[in-house]
Amino acid sequence: MSTTEITEALQRAVGPENVSVSETDRDAHSHDSWPVASVWAKLGRHPHRPDVVVHVKDANEIAAVVNIASNGQIPVTAWGLGSSVTGQPLPVRGGILLDLSKLVGEPVLDEINHLVTAPAGVRGSDLEAWLNGRGFTLNFSPQSLFRSTIGGWVATRATGQFSSRYGGIENALLGYDAVLADGSIVSLGQRPRAAMGPDLKQILIGSEGTFGVVTSVTLKVYRPAQKRLTDAFELDDLESGLTIMREIAQVGLRPFLVRLYDADEAAHVVQNQPSPVPVLFLGFEGEAAVADAERSIATAIAEGHGARNIGSDPVEAWLGRRFDFSTVENLLATPGGYAETVEVANLWGALPEMYAELKTALAPLADEVLGHFSHIYEQGSSLYIILLGRADTDELALAKLETIWATAMEVVLAHDGEISHHHGGGLARQAWVRRSLGSGFRVLERIKLAMDPKSILNPGKLGM
Ligand SMILES: Cc1cc2nc3c(=O)[nH]c(=O)nc-3n(C[C@H](O)[C@H](O)[C@H](O)COP(=O)(O)OP(=O)(O)OC[C@H]3O[C@@H](n4cnc5c(N)ncnc54)[C@H](O)[C@@H]3O)c2cc1C
Repeated sequence: MSTTEITEALQRAVGPENVSVSETDRDAHSHDSWPVASVWAKLGRHPHRPDVVVHVKDANEIAAVVNIASNGQIPVTAWGLGSSVTGQPLPVRGGILLDLSKLVGEPVLDEINHLVTAPAGVRGSDLEAWLNGRGFTLNFSPQSLFRSTIGGWVATRATGQFSSRYGGIENALLGYDAVLADGSIVSLGQRPRAAMGPDLKQILIGSEGTFGVVTSVTLKVYRPAQKRLTDAFELDDLESGLTIMREIAQVGLRPFLVRLYDADEAAHVVQNQPSPVPVLFLGFEGEAAVADAERSIATAIAEGHGARNIGSDPVEAWLGRRFDFSTVENLLATPGGYAETVEVANLWGALPEMYAELKTALAPLADEVLGHFSHIYEQGSSLYIILLGRADTDELALAKLETIWATAMEVVLAHDGEISHHHGGGLARQAWVRRSLGSGFRVLERIKLAMDPKSILNPGKLGM
């Protein structure tokens, strides 16, 4: 099929007004929120540009577009709102860019079962506001709530700032509908659990658009908590903070908020610290008696390890600015400025050494290397590293970012850690996916072969 034939077929499927081959539209979909892509944009580079941008409004239109792509063996890459910070929606082999931002509509609320179903292109903050007006909340709050779609959350295996109580997207959803590579439409989910073979809904969670296109999502909803309590603690050292978090997780407490900042990041987060020391934020919520009890047990654990309560103001201030990403964005907007976020995970036993080695190895690559731990589990935690730097030119900034990724990934693999906790593979981690998954990569390859034999769905991602 020639480009003209493909464009005409797409125009028949979704209407000419929803198909664009303009430079502006193609350029706009050649950069996501990955800092490397931001520097490419500054340099006027578009290494991963689609041939055509298509806007779709329902599952049938998506199926029609995927059928055209399948018949012509043309790559098709889904795009939610492009908030990926790892290059996930960048179409490395060109082809069709499937923009899902018009895949919106009135959600359906199920008050008995505490569920809401909405089209996959709905913006997270729009759904949250709609629910708030009806006395419910998602309790799913990624920092990108205002700039990402609910389908994007599924495709990237996203998590939110309240995950230690409410879980990642894999816990936050009941099921979803999707269009597969052959254009068929499927529903995957369990009501609320099943032992009828594997849990098939897990397949597309985190698949980065490589196994199918999510068209609608059914998420859990909650009544707002009766009581919310927050505290900040100063710590003698980072290790005691890690021990406190481990004990909190292992005795079965479920804080809605846990954030342990190293001294370098605490200097940014907590105002008026005379000399920066690590700081731990804790928050509990729910029925008043339960929140009170959980807080009092957690406080005893923290104080048992020398933590000093400095009140709730620092936590409340952070809650008020928790969607602000301007430090990174402003730096990226300046000539030669660069910033990166690298989130990884490991077991409790491995975290202190992995953290220390990452800080040492990354220190020469940026002006500041900040670290925090903010998603805890009984067995381990995430670690989020923020790097801020200035180079003489954007070209040098790009080189720094590439070295940062290579350095961080090698350190994490050397410590048997997880190379991504929630931002996913995208292009940033493409070179390390196989080593990270080990023998499991064979399973991923076989699923891909079965689900998408012509490899048309977002090719060049997840190590494939
Ligand atoms: C400031 C900021 C803060 C962030 N904070 C968080 C955070 O707290 N937690 C977190 O997990 N992530 C976070 N992210 C990363 C990002 O927002 C998430 O990964 C988000 O889920 C991406 O959603 P999106 O709709 O923008 O998807 P896009 O960026 O458009 O796409 C991401 C990937 O998903 C695929 N995709 C998108 N929609 C679909 C669909 N319907 N069906 C199939 N595939 C699809 C794309 O092909 C691509 O591979 C943050 C990003 C920014 C910029």
